[in-house]
Amino acid sequence: MINGNCECGRVRYGVDGEITDFSHCHCSQCRRLHGAAYATFAEVAKERFRYVSGADRIRTYASSEFNDRAFCGECGSAILVASHRHPDYLYLSMSTVSGNPPCPRGYHQYVDSKAPWHEITDDLEQYAAEPP
Ligand SMILES: [Zn+2]
Ligand SMILES: [Zn+2]
Repeated sequence: MINGNCECGRVRYGVDGEITDFSHCHCSQCRRLHGAAYATFAEVAKERFRYVSGADRIRTYASSEFNDRAFCGECGSAILVASHRHPDYLYLSMSTVSGNPPCPRGYHQYVDSKAPWHEITDDLEQYAAEPP
């Protein structure tokens, strides 16, 4: 069981399943929306995900025609991305996931949009945009 919550604790979720993809996204939207050098996402099956509490606090922002970003309307924590291109999955903001659940090997995507003041120093794969 994977559990997570927002900063204020009103939004809580659970996933009865595994993390199936693990990515570090350097695109400018993720950087702004997460207030960070990059955003880390854990892909989980949509049917395995449920809100435990605070579903009524969730607000969404369509950052593109493909992506809806869910965040806590109280504290602003980025919770997940729902992508119309991958409708069977959700992309949890890893920073809201509790503990240290098993994750596949990560990779960096949208490194062409990387913050110029941030240097990637690990040896994970890097993709200019999304991986092929
Ligand atoms: Zn919150
Ligand atoms: Zn991104």
